[in-house]
Amino acid sequence: MTDAREPHDLHPATRTVAAGRPDRQPGAPVNPPLVFTSTYIADGPVDYARVSNPTWEPLEETLGSLEGGRALAFGSGLAAVAAVLALVPHGGVVVAPRHAYSGTLANLAEREAAGGVQVRRVDIADADQVEAALEGADLLLLETATNPMLEVPDLPRLAAAARAAGTLTVCDNTFATPLLRQPLADGVDVVLHSVTKYLAGHSDLVLGATVTADTEQGRELHERLHRHRTLAGAIPGPMEAWLALRGMRTLDVRLERAGRTAALIAERAAGHPAVTKVRYPGWGAIVAIEVDGAEAGERVAGAVRVWTHSTSLGGVESQLERRRRHAAEADTVPEGLLRLSVGIEHAEDLWADLAQALDAASASRG
Ligand SMILES: *Cc1c(COP(=O)(O)O)cnc(C)c1O
Repeated sequence: MTDAREPHDLHPATRTVAAGRPDRQPGAPVNPPLVFTSTYIADGPVDYARVSNPTWEPLEETLGSLEGGRALAFGSGLAAVAAVLALVPHGGVVVAPRHAYSGTLANLAEREAAGGVQVRRVDIADADQVEAALEGADLLLLETATNPMLEVPDLPRLAAAARAAGTLTVCDNTFATPLLRQPLADGVDVVLHSVTKYLAGHSDLVLGATVTADTEQGRELHERLHRHRTLAGAIPGPMEAWLALRGMRTLDVRLERAGRTAALIAERAAGHPAVTKVRYPGWGAIVAIEVDGAEAGERVAGAVRVWTHSTSLGGVESQLERRRRHAAEADTVPEGLLRLSVGIEHAEDLWADLAQALDAASASRG
């Protein structure tokens, strides 16, 4: 599938477009085919489509090229999380962020309650605290920026400390995407994605992925994750895989626009009287703003007209959500925190809409 002219020295923006294409034969299609099949004629390399589907491969090739490793597509981001947690032996120790994607935290809490793992919860932005928790740990779970608090870990330092402690490091790179951060290059062992978000980018499918380094240990992890995917049946549908790659083709332009607008919105929101705090890591297109309590947060969410009040993130359409409306969200996340996922609409329309919603929230206060 890889074109001979798809070398790794091309810029990432070019690789998002050029990787995972069919060979350039006269008359060949420029896009990979979408293959719907559950089974294959006997005596070939694969018998059954729970093991492999040709539609997954161009997506895995493209994501692998961007992250600098080998990718595996999963049926959802959480399926990829579950695959990684299955690497931990029964009764093993996981060092995890106190704030992280709520589904990841819920998955860990269920395993913990059932006695399957011990969890040490840490502030991943506090490297000393993380290092102190590593002794005897099997797995260190990180997010490039935590969902929704945007705490940022020092990846090279923590990956090195974990390696020295014999702890496997996993980083959920959903918020940054490989265009902004490449955790494998920082020494992380496994990268995770909710492909649902920026990579696919259009809020029209659910998909996940893992990426492992092209080293002996990385290849072994790849095999274990692949085996888990097959035996847990955690596979993507071909339609989703095909659409995700189609979405990824425009990742660079979407992120560039959304990131620029996010920086502008973070700056302007900080000057709005209804906003008590702004969290923005300085990259990417997620901004968390705080207003004074749950009620004010609900009023903002109810007053936007261009933004949609909905869960999830990373689509072309701007979304915002008061995260504490979910019972599963950590209770240390402020009640009035709104997570903004900045899309690709015109920046001034987005700011004007958010500003009028914030005005409405502060006007009806007290
Ligand atoms: C959404 C999300 C997930 C879960 O992915 P799904 O595709 O919804 O299963 C995992 N991690 C992060 C950071 C997310 O935002």
